[in-house]
Amino acid sequence: MRVGIDLGTTYSAVAAVRGGAAEIVDGPDSRLTPSAVYFEDGRPVVGAPAKNMAAVGPEDYVELVKRRMGMPEPVHIDEDGREYRPEEISAIILAHLAAGARQALGDEVREAVVTVPAYFGDAARKATKDAAEIAGLHPLRILNEPTAAGIAYGLLKRESGTFLVYDLGGGTFDVTVMRVGDGELEVIATDGNRSLGGFDFDNILITYAALEVTATGGPELRDGGQCEARLRAACEDAKRRLSQAERTVIRVAGPERLHQVPVTRRRFEELTAGLLARTEDVVEDVLAQSGLDWAGIDKVLLVGGSSRMPMVADMVERLSGRRPSMEVNPDEAVALGAALLADRLPSQAGALEPAGPLTGAFRDVTSHGMGTVARNDFGVMANTVIIPRNTPIPCEKVEVFGTVVADQKELRFEVTEGDSEALTEVDATEIDLIALPAGLPEGAPLRIGMCFDVDGTMYIGVFDVINDRFLGRYQLHRPENMTREAKAASRRLLCELEAGPA
Ligand code: AMP
Repeated sequence: MRVGIDLGTTYSAVAAVRGGAAEIVDGPDSRLTPSAVYFEDGRPVVGAPAKNMAAVGPEDYVELVKRRMGMPEPVHIDEDGREYRPEEISAIILAHLAAGARQALGDEVREAVVTVPAYFGDAARKATKDAAEIAGLHPLRILNEPTAAGIAYGLLKRESGTFLVYDLGGGTFDVTVMRVGDGELEVIATDGNRSLGGFDFDNILITYAALEVTATGGPELRDGGQCEARLRAACEDAKRRLSQAERTVIRVAGPERLHQVPVTRRRFEELTAGLLARTEDVVEDVLAQSGLDWAGIDKVLLVGGSSRMPMVADMVERLSGRRPSMEVNPDEAVALGAALLADRLPSQAGALEPAGPLTGAFRDVTSHGMGTVARNDFGVMANTVIIPRNTPIPCEKVEVFGTVVADQKELRFEVTEGDSEALTEVDATEIDLIALPAGLPEGAPLRIGMCFDVDGTMYIGVFDVINDRFLGRYQLHRPENMTREAKAASRRLLCELEAGPA
């Protein structure tokens, strides 16, 4: 059985196509599962029961790991000193979601389309794929969340036109412009911010409430421990209530007594105006990149739980002159779209065949440029973008480079990710040394194919022109990503944890 999984920063959802219809698969707790893990005596507990333990044992509690995907630092160290990387915690969440889906569907879940923010770079995409594999799932495709939402709207609502998807989740923000019609989808432009989401709105409310409490002689609730965890939960609840009501009260138990901080929607909106403005800048920027103006946008789709804040729809209306659409539940659209794609992909497509043909009548784009380091016109080493952002994927661009000395033994190739010319503003990774055939003269032409696969991950292909021979395809091996051996060890650990005594 295949599923679509929206692996969210704060909440995750699973969907499947049954009897031709896409539906959310109920988890053990609810339709949305908190992306949270609590280690109880070293054993992971996932979802709502974990979230409930956040205030009791903050040191055993892990959340928001999606923000750390593609980064090598551990996000948790258990009592035995075992370090957990972001993809390992994500794998625990994915395994839990798959087990829940298996129970609900009565069928083994082995393959999944897993979604990521469109703005995720290569390392974070690979980390997500690794997380699925550690969880024992075959990642059929790594799909951009706004594209998934577009698929859900296009296929479920049978709508066509040019959509702008505004996706504000728990921890990430994306804007994507796409054309949808006749069961087809073409992404035109995308951009985002992987560190902007509902969590940041919570933080502002937390600061506000904590300062209100101390201003009236109360204790500092931001203690890095239980009080703060309770304050965070109370502020997130209050924020959600403010999407319905004009005013509410943040109620939080301090070390000695209950504290109550009234807050109005208007005050919350004033406090968070800067965050909203940052999303507005991205919207205008993506629209400009798509070469369209508001008259060319038929509909704005709101996706992600945080787009329920009324100020989001108000802003979109101010910009576009029209109310945005929430016809497909913003919390569920991404998982539904992922399930619809999973159902349509031919078997064995996707991750194992990076250069495979386009499957499904949709086309996504690169969210970052890909290039290399070379001297610019002024003789300064700079980033030379070879595949610009917003190029349809999969794609390949071939450049010819000459060997530097006669009989050069190996080639070092530096691949950059980013669009700026300044090397300080892009990610540069060296591809592992590529062995060259003996006897090549100086300046021997090597055709280097820079490629993005359908998942938006990068690799290069090297062709020796003189010997008319393909030398191989090379992925970027960053320290940020796990090695094959490390992944296998994690898989074993996860199996042990699952199989161990409850
Ligand atoms: P997602 O990851 O897309 O499920 O989004 C989760 C984020 O949406 C969290 O930060 C939630 O606090 C936020 N959220 C969910 N429902 C609401 C609501 N009614 N009003 C404001 N924020 C919400």
